[in-house]
Amino acid sequence: MRTAVVGAGVVGLSTAYALLRHGSEVDVFETGAPMAARSAGSSRIFRLAHGDPGLVAYAAAAAGLWADWTHRAGNRLLGQQSTVLTGPQAEEWADAMAAVGADHTLVDEDDLDTAELGLPVEALPGPALIDPAGGVIDAPATGRFLRAAIGNRVWREHVHRIEPHDDWVEVHGSGGVHEVDHVVVAAGRGSTELAAQVDMYLPTQLSHHVRFTFRMKDPELNPPCWIDETESWREGVTSYQHSSGPGLWSIGLNLPLDLELWERGRHEVVGHARELALTYVHETLVGVGEEIVEEVYCDTPTTLGDGVHVATTGPVTVIWGANLFKHAPAIGQTLANAAVNGVSPQVPRSE
Ligand SMILES: Cc1cc2nc3c(=O)[nH]c(=O)nc-3n(C[C@H](O)[C@H](O)[C@H](O)COP(=O)(O)OP(=O)(O)OC[C@H]3O[C@@H](n4cnc5c(N)ncnc54)[C@H](O)[C@@H]3O)c2cc1C
Repeated sequence: MRTAVVGAGVVGLSTAYALLRHGSEVDVFETGAPMAARSAGSSRIFRLAHGDPGLVAYAAAAAGLWADWTHRAGNRLLGQQSTVLTGPQAEEWADAMAAVGADHTLVDEDDLDTAELGLPVEALPGPALIDPAGGVIDAPATGRFLRAAIGNRVWREHVHRIEPHDDWVEVHGSGGVHEVDHVVVAAGRGSTELAAQVDMYLPTQLSHHVRFTFRMKDPELNPPCWIDETESWREGVTSYQHSSGPGLWSIGLNLPLDLELWERGRHEVVGHARELALTYVHETLVGVGEEIVEEVYCDTPTTLGDGVHVATTGPVTVIWGANLFKHAPAIGQTLANAAVNGVSPQVPRSE
């Protein structure tokens, strides 16, 4: 069986890797540099903690594969920092974890000792959910591992058109037309246009998002990853934060939608987000320097939350979502198993 994968972000590369391990023939077509679009940057948060038991179970499957990849790569791809969620969702997410037997600790508001959590803040309203399986994914090391495993099957080629027939597909790329048995579209933002060619209509609303990295004053500290849904700094503003290398602390503020609107333009949104991040660090965090040392920008689908979405029509499969890095090994395996066995892939679709 021959499969074309469109897109060499973490999802496309994971899918190609899983297909190769099944003994399939694979070619990956990538417009630009691999891992340079939504998969760019130093790190991502891994967590089992989600608001839906299906997503917790899916992340648990991914955790097993992250461990396998770490073993094969010979260096740690997923850290052991743990992940903490603070805010009103903590109880519901704890229930979702309990439903599938995932290890966790829920700390009530009255018992919350912020210092004990190891987060760089002085005080927080509770409750808090601690996910001991969470940690920081090393994104560049993941990319290097997958690229090395896939070898020379990644082609610098833009895919303009996919034309499905009953049980094969023509993939029209900038380097020519490729006839394959199956195509997996994992093209991030580019998936919307390709999917529409086969009458699949993905959500089109995008917003701008930017993550800022600061130095930690004590470079020896390795705090847990932190998802803060308390809105305790400003109403409507939540954040995710994590260490992103020795002595580095990355922060993504999730702003009210009108501040991240696509129509405002990248320059204006990023400028405003930068001002807010600097103010946030100054007013809230302890042990974190006040100078930005790195920025990672991406366009992101506005409405997708934590869901993993897949649709198949004939020999074409399309995958999309907003928070896919942590699940990537499981997504790759799901898509490869489905392609090899000729069945529709099953993923949790909940938000
Ligand atoms: C700052 C930031 C923080 C994030 N934090 C987290 C987190 O903590 N945890 C988490 O799980 N997720 C997180 N995410 C989301 C996660 O990184 C993305 O969901 C994931 O990387 C998407 O991977 P992908 O392979 O689907 O897309 P991409 O990485 O965008 O890859 C798609 C590729 O397809 C290529 N392409 C597009 N069109 C075509 C075409 N027509 N022909 C050929 N190639 C094409 C593009 O060039 C691109 O390289 C974060 C994202 C960002 C940017």
